[in-house]
Amino acid sequence: MEILGIDIGGSGIKGAPVDIESGTLTAERKRIPTPTPATPEAVARTVEGMRKHFDWHGPIGIAFPARIKHGVALTASNIDPTWIGTDAAALFSSATGCPVFVLNDADAAGVASMQFGVGKGRNDLVLFLTFGTGIGSALFINQVLVPNSELGHLTLRGMVAEHYASDRARKDGDLPWKEYAGRIQEYLDRLEFLLAPDLIIIGGSLSREKKREKYFHLLKTQAELTTALLENNAGIIGAAYSAEVLVNT
Ligand code: BGC
Repeated sequence: MEILGIDIGGSGIKGAPVDIESGTLTAERKRIPTPTPATPEAVARTVEGMRKHFDWHGPIGIAFPARIKHGVALTASNIDPTWIGTDAAALFSSATGCPVFVLNDADAAGVASMQFGVGKGRNDLVLFLTFGTGIGSALFINQVLVPNSELGHLTLRGMVAEHYASDRARKDGDLPWKEYAGRIQEYLDRLEFLLAPDLIIIGGSLSREKKREKYFHLLKTQAELTTALLENNAGIIGAAYSAEVLVNT
């Protein structure tokens, strides 16, 4: 079965139909720049543009960079603040005329990793992290997602962790990789202290091979540590996979 997956990010909105049995894209991925300002109405118009591009008339799963409860956005760290309190599922559904399921972007990417990537078959405590503009987190116990964990918002050295250890913090601070690896290490140490995961999966832009080779060998954790495999498509795949609930209820 195919479901359209869409991943809403700070700079781009990416989408493709996904075969949710195999977790593969069935058409070439489309990227549309995120409108500025990324208000609910502007993003909804872009999502409708994505639907039109694929001439899609079925269920849609959307990965969104905020805490999402019952379709409603509750936070807005890296998107327009007017999203807070917006029923994103209802908004996208009325813009597209399709049934829409919305979940947090890191949760979506984590789901893809657990179903089709390095987390497949893991029946212990898995912590999936995305390092990009922010830091997203997804926590799984026995393959079951504990949604909206938002662990990028822990404080480290008096700062919000994602302002200290995200890939954007590295770029903005022009940090050498060795120093940045030290920050990731501090962040992972804190997470290990709090949660004692069995496996930590590093996703987002830091999972790309070109970046991985610059920092990964410098990290040391008690948990097994690995990088994700699905890279840029994880959010799309996980959002589509999660939207199956629309079909089965
Ligand atoms: C948001 C999370 C999101 C993460 C990655 C954070 O700023 O609070 O909801 O998952 O960025 O986009």
